[in-house]
Amino acid sequence: MLDSRKVRATAVCGFLLPVLFSVVGTAWAGDETAPARDPKQAVDETYTAKIQKYTTAPYFTSPLVNYLPASKNVPTPEVVLGDVAGAPGVLPYAADVYKYMRLLEKASPRVRVFSIGTTEEGREMIAVAVSSPENLKNLEENRARLAKLADPRTIKLDDTEADKLVAQAVPVYYITGTIHSPETGAPTALMELAYRLAVDESAYIREIRDGTITLITPVVEVDGRDRIVDIYKWHLAHPKDFYPPLIYWGKYVAHDNNRDAMGVTLKLTENVLNTYIGWKAQVLHDLHESVPYLYDNTIGDGPYNAWVDPILTDEWQMIGARNVADMTKFGMPGVFTHGDFDTWSPGYLMFIAAMHNGISRLYETFGNGGADTQERTLDPEEYARTWWRQNPPLPKVLWSQRDNNNYEQTGLLTSLHYFNENKRLFLKNFYLKAKRSVMKPSEEGPAAYVLPADESRPSLQAELLRVLQKQSVEISHAKSAFTVSLPVKKEKPKKDTKDAKESDKEKKPEPEPTSRDFPAGSYIIRMDQPYARIADALLDHQYWSPDDPQKTPYDDTGWTFGELFGVQVARVTDLKALDVAMERVTEVHAPGGVKGDGAVFAINNNAEPALAMLRYKLKDAGMEAAEEPFEGGGKKFNRGSFVIRNASHADLDRAAAELSLQAVALGTAPQRKNPSRPCGARSLRAHLAQHADRRLVAAGV
Ligand SMILES: [Zn+2]
Repeated sequence: MLDSRKVRATAVCGFLLPVLFSVVGTAWAGDETAPARDPKQAVDETYTAKIQKYTTAPYFTSPLVNYLPASKNVPTPEVVLGDVAGAPGVLPYAADVYKYMRLLEKASPRVRVFSIGTTEEGREMIAVAVSSPENLKNLEENRARLAKLADPRTIKLDDTEADKLVAQAVPVYYITGTIHSPETGAPTALMELAYRLAVDESAYIREIRDGTITLITPVVEVDGRDRIVDIYKWHLAHPKDFYPPLIYWGKYVAHDNNRDAMGVTLKLTENVLNTYIGWKAQVLHDLHESVPYLYDNTIGDGPYNAWVDPILTDEWQMIGARNVADMTKFGMPGVFTHGDFDTWSPGYLMFIAAMHNGISRLYETFGNGGADTQERTLDPEEYARTWWRQNPPLPKVLWSQRDNNNYEQTGLLTSLHYFNENKRLFLKNFYLKAKRSVMKPSEEGPAAYVLPADESRPSLQAELLRVLQKQSVEISHAKSAFTVSLPVKKEKPKKDTKDAKESDKEKKPEPEPTSRDFPAGSYIIRMDQPYARIADALLDHQYWSPDDPQKTPYDDTGWTFGELFGVQVARVTDLKALDVAMERVTEVHAPGGVKGDGAVFAINNNAEPALAMLRYKLKDAGMEAAEEPFEGGGKKFNRGSFVIRNASHADLDRAAAELSLQAVALGTAPQRKNPSRPCGARSLRAHLAQHADRRLVAAGV
């Protein structure tokens, strides 16, 4: 995730060389399962020898990954890669990774592969579940338990019932790899991780396998993966030539495919979101590579996002701190948390979990952007010892893809083990976060958001609501008109103390409460629903206090969706809004079409991008833009409204219905004082570009 250009220099207060310990067997307390190989575990000696050969220093590995368990019937990644995971010069295409995962599935009852959708270019995305055969056999039963915890309304918010479910449920820990295509290491690390989880008989791994379902999407940006492997192979064939970077990774987007978790405009976001929600997973852990050697972004720096449940921010602290502690005990340098990445913007892929009552996590490990072994020299601020990086990376090392794979797998295995040890706590928290979302109206507010039925931009209103539906937010329709009271607006205190004293003397009367009427058919987004937090985050006014210690948030990202879509969004604190007669909306589509008969039609211009799309749909029709407001067909039209001639009634009706635009037949064209400006394709392209920008901002790109 971290783009090197964005990494800010941190205060350098001198540096110390990393503390390099050898692994001590007594580092774990007596009642904890030691992260160690079972002495009876058969080892694949050839594979293990290559792991050791490609690891460039003895402290760039751990007792969890410095050997490969042997299996009589389950193939190792070598059958597909032709070498071990992380070997120099080896980068598999997504198809190779999938081929291996399906070989694992065929050979082991502990592995199942699921297709989770396709990319913009039609490539498959998968999720691989690794767990005990018992857990995989009972997936549906387990999903039903998790679904009750995810939606506490189904058990009437009954904590006793929740405790029973928590005691029986098997949690789901979802890991996603290589959303950023030049960060190339995750797929091989995840192939080997799946193998280890499926075959290793050490107590440490067995506990993870029996207690948790590990779900893995080894390649998130599949289109980009294939392109980067093409480029890398070209580089191998032309080792002395310039090695070009990728321009676009996916079909439309490069680095900012990891800013799409609000707008959900990309297939990869939609597929991961649906998988996360569908499996009722507790964690989403996204793998990136740009910081030496393992930066666990889980905790992050301020500002923290104001809409997440504080229970989650405590979970970040627990998990992040323990992860660093475990890897530090292995003697692996350069493992740290905090850093300068914040958790303010909800646009990152991992934040799907933060906004849906789970736990979001992100790793930055150290990648070479390919599979070459390279000498890497760090900047002083990268190896400085800081309060949050007590055992920093080395100033200069020889670094291999295997080193990177060792760090990724060690971090994930210790995380999985810690998570499994504390799964009852995390499952209970998963329930509590959902319950607190359902109780939001009375506990913290607001009660609801209302998008009024008399919206002047219905096509944009529908578009905004469809984004919320993708986020699994429940939307309702008011069956009748209703009125809510609005909170009394507080006056800002006067800064000048003399003026403030003067105004105190005046003793102004308290302002009266006001109210607002909404017509029947208005959309109500109730806040007493399990996924209220994502709706609250997107519909509320984004804010961040200038007093926050971090003056420059990591991403300058806007997400007040009402403003970005240019539609009315009312934040309602009056609990009466929840008593309005309403019904759930399954499909959002604003009505459109032609009203009346005639040869000339008008469409009011409220700056909806759909108007530009209409121009392209009816390219042979004559379209003009009114230079002044006018009235016709019993309606008022704004300046800029479209006047359309030479279009068949049926064609216009069909196009307007598709685009949610209302066209009105006029008896005659409006009078004009000056020749009207033709509303041709050229000016509409500019119009379209302007609104494309708006969409991009809305998508958090
Ligand atoms: Zn990245």
